[in-house]
Amino acid sequence: MQKHTGFKDFTVITESSDITVARHGGRAKCMQRLLRLGMPVPKTVALPFDMVHRLAAGHMPDVAGILAEFGEAPLVSVRPSSEDPDWGGPGAILNIGMNDARHAELTKRLGQEAANAIYLRFIQGFAIHVARLDPDMFESDDISAESVRAALHEYEDEFDEPFPQDPVQQLSEVLRSMARAWEGTSARLLRQAKGAPADAGLGLVVQQMALGLGPAESGSGVIQFVSPVTGREQITGRYLSQSQGRAALAQPDGVFYLTRDDRGRSLEEHCPEVFAELVEWGRISRQRLREEMEIEFTIEAGKLMILDSVRVPRSSRAAVRIAVGLANEKIIPREEAVLRIEPRALTELLHSQVDPTGARDVFARGIAASPGGATGRIVFSSAAAQASAARGEPCVLVRRETAPEDIRGMHAASAVLTERGGMTSHAAVIARGLGLPCVVGVSGMTLRWREKTLRAADGRVFREGDIITVDGTAGEALVGEAKMLPPALDDAFQALLGWAEEACDISVRANADTPSDAQTAREFGAEGIGLCRTEHMFFEDGRLTVMREMIFANSPEDRAAALDQLLPMQREDFIRLFEIMQGQSVCIRLFDPPLHEFLPHSREGMRELAEALDLPLSDVTRRVEALSEFNPMLGMRGVRLGITVPEIYEMQARAIFEAAAEVARRGDPVVPEIMIPLVSAKREVELVKARVDSVAAAVRVETGRDFDYKLGVMVETPRAALRAGDIATHASFLSFGTNDLTQMTYGLSRDDAGRFMSSYVQQEVFPEDPFHTLDTDGVGELLLIGAERGRESRPDVVLSVCGEHGGNAESIAFCRQAGFNYVSCSPFRVPVARLAAAHLALSGSARKFAE
Ligand code: PEP
Ligand code: MG
Repeated sequence: MQKHTGFKDFTVITESSDITVARHGGRAKCMQRLLRLGMPVPKTVALPFDMVHRLAAGHMPDVAGILAEFGEAPLVSVRPSSEDPDWGGPGAILNIGMNDARHAELTKRLGQEAANAIYLRFIQGFAIHVARLDPDMFESDDISAESVRAALHEYEDEFDEPFPQDPVQQLSEVLRSMARAWEGTSARLLRQAKGAPADAGLGLVVQQMALGLGPAESGSGVIQFVSPVTGREQITGRYLSQSQGRAALAQPDGVFYLTRDDRGRSLEEHCPEVFAELVEWGRISRQRLREEMEIEFTIEAGKLMILDSVRVPRSSRAAVRIAVGLANEKIIPREEAVLRIEPRALTELLHSQVDPTGARDVFARGIAASPGGATGRIVFSSAAAQASAARGEPCVLVRRETAPEDIRGMHAASAVLTERGGMTSHAAVIARGLGLPCVVGVSGMTLRWREKTLRAADGRVFREGDIITVDGTAGEALVGEAKMLPPALDDAFQALLGWAEEACDISVRANADTPSDAQTAREFGAEGIGLCRTEHMFFEDGRLTVMREMIFANSPEDRAAALDQLLPMQREDFIRLFEIMQGQSVCIRLFDPPLHEFLPHSREGMRELAEALDLPLSDVTRRVEALSEFNPMLGMRGVRLGITVPEIYEMQARAIFEAAAEVARRGDPVVPEIMIPLVSAKREVELVKARVDSVAAAVRVETGRDFDYKLGVMVETPRAALRAGDIATHASFLSFGTNDLTQMTYGLSRDDAGRFMSSYVQQEVFPEDPFHTLDTDGVGELLLIGAERGRESRPDVVLSVCGEHGGNAESIAFCRQAGFNYVSCSPFRVPVARLAAAHLALSGSARKFAE
């Protein structure tokens, strides 16, 4: 063993000692808080991060000095104390200091069984976690003297050395092994996945053992005062007589549940005074620590000792209810409740769940690693997941296990299913972070990667492309598409969003194309619709054929006839949107995609179309070929279509205005916003504006109703951003379509980039996928130029982002900084965006809540 360098840098935790989270970690600080509340905490010593760091390199502290703090021949435990408890750390080691002499002495004092159990627990912990011997050799429930001898013998056999008897050596080795475990690669990757910085430090706490074993009532347990699943008030936990540490949680036999309502015997009946004391400490810690705590306790000869207390582990749903509850009781300010919830955590609350009453054909069972349900086609690789997402097809990523390079595939998937893994495996940790339904550790499932098949335990074989549903709440995978329940959005969630709203200084709208999207957007508190992609309305049943008739029209009269059929359908769409949004802003984008997207591509489809239109098949094939383009994304789409086939935009403008006149007649006036896509020149805007204005004038006369509207431009080409000054003279708003703007700025196809994006990110060509996180350097510069030039020529121009980036926290920060008026994102991202925006607005005052 390395000789210690003699530095004395540990601190005995007292009410007044200098303990900080930044230096000693959260557990050490928490111990001090418990002491300050007057809790019966055994003596504890804190080792700071820098000492543990040196320890990993072999520089021993004054271990004898540490032990001496605990008096004559002490028994101690060591626990990790990282800055954030969620970052994990090595497991606790108990009963350090046990040796043959102490064993003999404790046998006399506490009895043979208790002494054996204490010694065995230490030998097992030391052999497995410090000496790294095979756990199978040491895991036994037998606590006979024979077992103790066998364990000592086993150790000596494996290690070629007797089991260490010197407490200083024991503690030194425990401390060093914990320090090294923290610095190991897998521990580092795991905590980094939970947001820890690369250089996160570890503190350690050494604590006098409270034994939990012996003749009078002794044991150990854990108590919580709220449900970790729902966050509602509820006393739960377990207590096991004659036990130590968290044994009550590991072993269901013979435990006491805590209250009388629970099954079996209860601690409330068995030790009413201790139970009452615990409940009181729970109340006090809620008030004074401003948090719902889980308390780890020991009863030593009838007397309560509190060993540790951590924040109750919690689902996102529980986190919201706890924060809102604390704020409602005025224990914390509302702003702090808002800041306590990680925006991304809300996704978990928003997810659909598989309807438990629906039919279930389960083909795989595993660990329910991340809640919610989702359906998609099976893909076996991250690249396939990205390609599927680019095609707009939901997919389920099925892997043996996932690794950090799968992160982009997981982003692209709707759900994840892995053969291996547990609650803290990579797939589970990442899926929870992303709010993706995930099931891991599916036993009996075999993946054949090369053949792209999945064989279930019951022998059924599934192939890439087959549709399955992952129920991350139940831990099951189902054949086909399951019936879903919409997300449950409870009062606590609504309260939190309301408070976030009060704090926000940038608005959040939703991208909503259908009445059901609009409904969801309202439920999630969107402040209007920032982008309604009208072309989606033409894909509905019964409309596609009319749309195709319009595209195939040979004369202006035929085209007008088809558009006349589409007009009332569009008008109804807009009336419904306006009604749902109840006077909030609704920004409608005129038709954007290339026309040929509406045409059939297979021979079969063409035959059907020929039948529907009563045309020869050859005519249809010829027209489809004539409409096809080499590069449709850069071809006849957006405003270019509006200029060359103006009747389409005229019909849409008429439908919008007639809908506005109709809702005004019903008493709910609305000011529609009309947005022109893919603009690159001022003249395009002039031409479309002249037509839209004249349609508005005609509808005013025809309906006898006056209405207002706004006309704006979608900035999706670099030229539009550069010429925003010119363009803004005709546009009352500029909305940056950062999907196309990213595509065009990089010259990077939105639909094909998935094929090489992971290599690019892995090799650090791009720091992140720019379609996911706004490229603030390049695309961002265009946004800033566009905003500045737009404002120069029209100071009141309304600025926004409506690309996918609108729902991304970093991108929202950029837009807010640039003084944009709003961001717009898909309805399910609205709550996350609102909370992220509130965090940004509150972060200036955040420091005042920090302790
Ligand atoms: C965009 O390009 O950013 C946008 C919102 O439009 P779409 O995704 O429909 O092209
Ligand atoms: Mg676009």
